[in-house]
Amino acid sequence: MEKFVKNASILIVDDTPKNIQLLGTVLKETGYRVIVATNGNSALNILEKTKPDLILLDVMMPELSGFDTIKKIKENENIKNIPVIFLTAKAEPDDVLEGFKLGAVDYITKPFHASELLARVKTHLELKINKDLIQNLLDFQKGLVLMIDENRILYANKSFLNYVGSPNLLQFTRDYQSYSEYFDIIEENLEDQELKLKPKDKFLKKEIFLAHKSLLPGKSLFILNLTDVTDYEIEKTTLEQKASYDELTKVYNRTKFIDIFNEIYKSITQEEKPLSLIIFDIDHFKKINDNFGHNIGDKVLVEISSCLKGLIRNSDILCRWGGEEFLILLKSSIEDSFRIAEKIRTFIESKEFIQNHKITISLGVTSLEKNDNLDLFINRADQALYKAKNSGRNQTIKI
Ligand SMILES: [Mg+2]
Repeated sequence: MEKFVKNASILIVDDTPKNIQLLGTVLKETGYRVIVATNGNSALNILEKTKPDLILLDVMMPELSGFDTIKKIKENENIKNIPVIFLTAKAEPDDVLEGFKLGAVDYITKPFHASELLARVKTHLELKINKDLIQNLLDFQKGLVLMIDENRILYANKSFLNYVGSPNLLQFTRDYQSYSEYFDIIEENLEDQELKLKPKDKFLKKEIFLAHKSLLPGKSLFILNLTDVTDYEIEKTTLEQKASYDELTKVYNRTKFIDIFNEIYKSITQEEKPLSLIIFDIDHFKKINDNFGHNIGDKVLVEISSCLKGLIRNSDILCRWGGEEFLILLKSSIEDSFRIAEKIRTFIESKEFIQNHKITISLGVTSLEKNDNLDLFINRADQALYKAKNSGRNQTIKI
């Protein structure tokens, strides 16, 4: 650090040649490179060209005062991060306050003590160099990186700003107070300090990020490293869908149904709400396959499934249990479920799935009883279905 500080360049802005000479000598003797401007406008020109590490700015100058000059510096994206120390005979508390308000990092009154001035210059150069170092390290990272103190974003790397489309951090933080105003947290794993984030603007940005938190010394400071995991998430969703849905009919498969039942079962026992089950199969399905071929048989299964989706409610769970057998789980009383079963039966009966050939279904309905598990529950519905079959098919029996 010492070496970096020694090589630093400092711009002195003062309209009094004597002051420039005095200051220049002290700084040069310490090893700093010194650049000089005798008024605000020429300082602004020099800043654009040379970008020094620090500015020592006089307040009282003709034309552009020191206060006016710093305003222009802070408006200019290219130079606004260069620290400014006011060096002036104007030492009223109001002046000092005004200087800090305008964005100065320090305020030294004239006549100055060389050692005090040098100590302050060194401190602010070190801070500036540290800041630049952090920014460069973050910019070097491939992912999107933020450094955050509690909720306040202190640093954002170039990749992050490019992604959000902000020219600089200040612009971004004007629109968003914290990263959680830009992103929705869709998953949180506190133990591993991992978050899954998705931009709130779903129309423009569809990426999903895995964000890893690294805590830094000091409790509230951390680095958030965002990796784009969109492709992985899409693949995972596709796999999950494959694992949950019947390939032919696109309704839930047996595995998913069991999962959902177990999930509901846990909550039902606590809340004591009714849960019913409809089981049904297509009458004489084997004959359909034998007479019309398996393709037509499959087509019937697909069409019946898609009809069912329109007949049941959003909260009802439909599954292809196997072959031509389907289950529907309903958070309803047995009477209501029976009515839905009958609605399905009469609809299927009325529809011509195969030209000049009538298709009917038989249904069994039951509701969950105390001490039931899924097997007992399904067995009872199955018994009802068996009765419906034995009583001539195309009917609903409830037990
Ligand atoms: Mg002056």
